[in-house]
Amino acid sequence: MTDWTALIRDVPDYPKPGILFKDITPLLADHAAFTQVVDELGEGLAFDKVVGIEARGFILAAPVAYRSGAGFVPVRKEGKLPSETYEASYDLEYGSATIEVHADAFESGDRVLIVDDVLATGGTARAAVELVRRTGAQVVAVSFLMELSFLSGRDRLPGLEVRTLLTV
Ligand code: 5GP
Repeated sequence: MTDWTALIRDVPDYPKPGILFKDITPLLADHAAFTQVVDELGEGLAFDKVVGIEARGFILAAPVAYRSGAGFVPVRKEGKLPSETYEASYDLEYGSATIEVHADAFESGDRVLIVDDVLATGGTARAAVELVRRTGAQVVAVSFLMELSFLSGRDRLPGLEVRTLLTV
């Protein structure tokens, strides 16, 4: 077991002044740490598809899917997916953002694990849950590498299994 938590780097004032950004790239560059977190994100859960949220969620969700014999489904920012989509919008500090999923991404009754790197306010994950549910699939859990607990993102995911490997 590696202590991968030391491989998450704090970057002050990114992307804007006053924000302390958690940079996961040193962790991704370390094979032992990367494989360990990929294992833990899906461990003990039963699912048919793994959703990765653009962009860092893709990096984690795809190996979780590969390792578990599940399919991978991208949730992308507005306008990036080529076929028919469902979309969900959520509020940001200034303005709003929209994410999309292909309308035919799941079989009916699919059990879905949603993966992203960081749970902050929970707005992104909440919108991803809504998208999956709109297709008729079922969200079994939402897994994150890290939770910024002072932003209370969990409160936006009531009734769901929320797994976070590190809480700060
Ligand atoms: P939320 O919607 O929960 O406020 O924000 C979560 C989204 O913003 C995630 O997709 C995550 O990638 C990104 N995010 C927010 N803060 C950080 C951070 O400090 N580090 C990283 N790596 N991603 C962040």
